Amino acid sequence: MWESMSLGEIIECASDPYPSMREWKRKSNKKVIGTTFADVPEEVIQAFDMLPTTIMGTHKPLKKAQALLPDNACSLARSNLELVLSYETDLFDGFVLPQVCDTTQHLSDIWRINLKGKYFESYLAPRQTDRESAKYWVRKEIERLIDSLSNFAQRGIKREDLEYSVEVHNENKRLLREIYSFKNDNPSSVSNRELFSMIKLSQQIDKVEFNQTLKKVRDTLKRGTRDGYTDVVLAGITCDPLEIYDLFDEIKLNVVADNLLVGSRYIQGEVDPGEDLIQKLTERHFKRGFFSPIHGSVFAEFQEIKRLYQENNAKAVIYVHIEFCESQEYDLPDLKKMAKEEGIPMHVIETEYQTTSLSHIRTRLQAFFESIRGV
Ligand code: SF4
Repeated sequence: MWESMSLGEIIECASDPYPSMREWKRKSNKKVIGTTFADVPEEVIQAFDMLPTTIMGTHKPLKKAQALLPDNACSLARSNLELVLSYETDLFDGFVLPQVCDTTQHLSDIWRINLKGKYFESYLAPRQTDRESAKYWVRKEIERLIDSLSNFAQRGIKREDLEYSVEVHNENKRLLREIYSFKNDNPSSVSNRELFSMIKLSQQIDKVEFNQTLKKVRDTLKRGTRDGYTDVVLAGITCDPLEIYDLFDEIKLNVVADNLLVGSRYIQGEVDPGEDLIQKLTERHFKRGFFSPIHGSVFAEFQEIKRLYQENNAKAVIYVHIEFCESQEYDLPDLKKMAKEEGIPMHVIETEYQTTSLSHIRTRLQAFFESIRGV
């Protein structure tokens, strides 16, 4: 189903993967476990022969979530809850919900109360990752998740199951990295929309199948040109809706680096080989890039953005701000100030899940890059 997709089909499926996921579930008779951002070790879920899928909101109308969440909950939290309550309730057999910010800390209870009969587990990643005890904590959380899934699946996993799952996930990230790297030098051949659709789908559909598609994409890449393109760094948490990438393509922006969860931070999460794979999964948690809601230091976040900007010789940074994301609301004033002090041109896109009209974003984006290019 997902092993031989054209670029057009990848874009279409990334916009709404759920119809094909329902079909996949019907045919495979496998369980689907939804997770939310960030850092749930999806390899563990796949090792139980279930599909781990990251829930990334819906563009369909809000009907129930508004009444269950406070007004200031971010649009991602509202959109995710709406998706599982109103539109895809039957698709999911259960959920593994991490806690990354104050909003998500209170969410799991609301999900549990309103989605009775599903499997639920939490995943509590430590926020203070520089403490030695954090490593012990992450390992215990992974072991706890394995025990919990064993109870749900009524079976354990063998070492080979986890080994195979890790290899499938690692291969997926290697393929994405190769395509990303090719796109940086050949933006006329692979668009931003295509690349980031591949990264999104990799977090949502079966990678055993989708890796076959990615291999074909990689093997048929044709050299293009970077003439007329402006290299930019994309920063934030996610960039939704995906049509924002169409705007980048339209005005010839080439995203050469990013720190998004649906971007490089995911691709960085390869697991090293080794005898003790749980230890390697634990170590991976500490190798991943900076994520403000977890790591909580706006200065470290800025250093990361600055490094990406300088190392890639980019011309500007585009920061995607999800409205009402408490973490980004805290960070943004300092990020803007530091970028200004360092002379880094930074453009902020304000967006929210459920947004479909991009006319305001287009006008401001065009004006910003006309000034950068001296048009
Ligand atoms: S980190 Fe921001 S966008 Fe993510 S759930 Fe928390 S408030 Fe929402």
